Amino acid sequence: MDTKFFKKLGRSVSSLGLGTWRMGEDKSMDDACIAALKRGIELGATMIDTAEIYANGRSEELVGKAIKDFDRDELFIVTKVWPTHARYEDVLKAAKESSRRLGTHIDLYLLHWPSDIPICETMRAMEELVKTGLIRHIGLSNFDVKGIEEARACLKNNDIAAVQNRFSPTYRKDYSEVIPYAKKEGMMYMAYTPIEKGALAGNRLLKKIGEKYGKTPIQVALNWLICIEPVVPIPKASRIEHVEENVGAMGWRLSQEDFAEILNRL
Ligand code: NAP
Repeated sequence: MDTKFFKKLGRSVSSLGLGTWRMGEDKSMDDACIAALKRGIELGATMIDTAEIYANGRSEELVGKAIKDFDRDELFIVTKVWPTHARYEDVLKAAKESSRRLGTHIDLYLLHWPSDIPICETMRAMEELVKTGLIRHIGLSNFDVKGIEEARACLKNNDIAAVQNRFSPTYRKDYSEVIPYAKKEGMMYMAYTPIEKGALAGNRLLKKIGEKYGKTPIQVALNWLICIEPVVPIPKASRIEHVEENVGAMGWRLSQEDFAEILNRL
């Protein structure tokens, strides 16, 4: 299995996770989404990312159905609280509801976006959730380094274990600041929209490099992300052939020269 160890998580997770945004919106696609998630897990992508906001909780329900026959200890389940639920009592309630829909505890609970609620109030609720065992780790999504440090300063018995932001071979806002910070601090960096909604499938440079490895442009894009130490990309795929292709980004690495060519020329 292709995994990465993170000091702040105290464990390894799969080097690629499964995204679920939009799953559950179209009920006629439920079975296909569950099958795609199961296939991804079978092939070693044992981290799943969801959120209470996705399809108003239905995405979490589908994740719950997809994971129920797997060994829970092998999985890493991530979900998020929406900023309108960032008050102390609301965070506790939202986590309880997410956990009920998932049918299990939450390995990593993220504040989905910065909110107007004082961050220390939200972090206080997160610490309470760790204490009760409903969540294992605390993280942030759509935060810069300043915001991460503000949240860390509030925490008494825990630390921020992960950050999830938008990052892809063509969208690299975090390359020089948030990602090196995550690496230095032993945090996981989850890269969302890692294949630019599938648009990278048509990229000529990725195609040319992929030919050397017998890999597709999408597999090269995802592998480029995996090559960056703290980064775990979380592509979403509701089609089995997409999930199989994406998981084929694990188990090998681009050469340093090819990594640099993508960095410099894309
Ligand atoms: P993405 O993963 O870059 O792209 C998903 C789209 O690409 C889907 O339409 C999917 O189609 C298609 N696709 C998947 N594999 C493909 C392949 N091998 N070839 C061609 N097309 C392929 O974008 P995303 O969904 O925005 O981001 C991924 C995940 O990150 C989300 O699902 C969510 O879990 C998370 N996310 C988090 C935030 C945040 O604020 N924290 C924001 C956005 C996303 P099919 O579904 O038809 O297979």
